[in-house]
Amino acid sequence: MLLCAVITVRPSSPARKRKKQARPFLSPGVLLRRAEVVKYKAKVGSSTGGGYVCPNRYLCPLYLLRSNILMQTNWEIVGHEWAVELLSRRVASGRIRHATLFTGPARIGKTTLAIRLAQAINCVGTHPPCGQCRPCDLIERGIHPDVHVLSGEADRIKIEAIREMQGLLVLRPFEARYRIAVLVAFHNTTEQAMDALLKTLEEPPSQTQLILTADMPDALLPTIPSRCQVIPLRPVPRAQIESALMERAGLDAEQAALLAHLSGGRPGWAFTMARQPDALAEQAAILSDLLTVLRANRDGRFAFAEVTARANNLRQVLDVWQSWWRDVLLWAEGSRTEPIHIDRRADIKALADEVGAEAARRALKAVRDTLHCLDRNANARLALEVMLLEMPYL
Ligand SMILES: [Zn+2]
Repeated sequence: MLLCAVITVRPSSPARKRKKQARPFLSPGVLLRRAEVVKYKAKVGSSTGGGYVCPNRYLCPLYLLRSNILMQTNWEIVGHEWAVELLSRRVASGRIRHATLFTGPARIGKTTLAIRLAQAINCVGTHPPCGQCRPCDLIERGIHPDVHVLSGEADRIKIEAIREMQGLLVLRPFEARYRIAVLVAFHNTTEQAMDALLKTLEEPPSQTQLILTADMPDALLPTIPSRCQVIPLRPVPRAQIESALMERAGLDAEQAALLAHLSGGRPGWAFTMARQPDALAEQAAILSDLLTVLRANRDGRFAFAEVTARANNLRQVLDVWQSWWRDVLLWAEGSRTEPIHIDRRADIKALADEVGAEAARRALKAVRDTLHCLDRNANARLALEVMLLEMPYL
């Protein structure tokens, strides 16, 4: 209470006043918090016999902590606490930028955070995103009339789709306070589509928010991140994923430990696997194919490339291979860090001993280069052929 008084009775400077006037918007969350301040004021006044109550108390960290605003979060995100805290504060204070870009590896939590942010911005509950109010519910189900989602996960986002979305963004919100465009996997977008979006990023219509996600931010035009609040997501600690799998997905300790290891710090991947009992078997088959192709000659490798290039799970195959060669390289270099493929320790050791660190490094680089090429819409078969020729022969 003393801290509140010390912080808030300071006379406002002209600069502070200007800053307050320039606040871009006041979200429903802010308005509700103001209502809460009135309630808090009444409560504090009655318990202390009255006294000074600052009109800006809702921005005081001590008040926020005491009133449980910051601690009571419904974001339901595994890890990324710093990002949740940052975004919660921005939404609560009404200082969120008009465009936010989440970056990080696939299935690390970018899309979940993007949806939660959209909910938080338009939430009319007490603790955004409350998950209970109409906007939160409709956004969760993907049917909110003012929230438009475009995804580049399956196909590249094309300029026609961007233009259509821009046509919607200039309209007044139908029922929410803000129209929101959520652009998932925006790295998988044509250059013309990125150029088209730049116009909206530079001159956003009023009452509009843009939320983007990208696995590989360097695939974006450099001008895009520079116009966004960039939130770079890092791998989540294994123990955190492990306990979340036990608590939320009901896995036993052994299954949770295995999936947490295999996830490489990506909660989304771990939960997807937990929901699909066949997924681990599929992963084992991918690794078995890899070991088979390493024993194949040039023709056998080209035949494998042709088949795999048409597979629906091409990216998954490359993700698994990437993590596999990482494990092999670490072992070959003498590191005894626990491998991602913890259930295949013996195979990793045998392969590392057979091919050595240099070949493992070259193979890992080849897989990464192939993922990079595919993100730029390269011919998948040719990219795979080049990659397989870089792999060691057993
Ligand atoms: Zn809500």
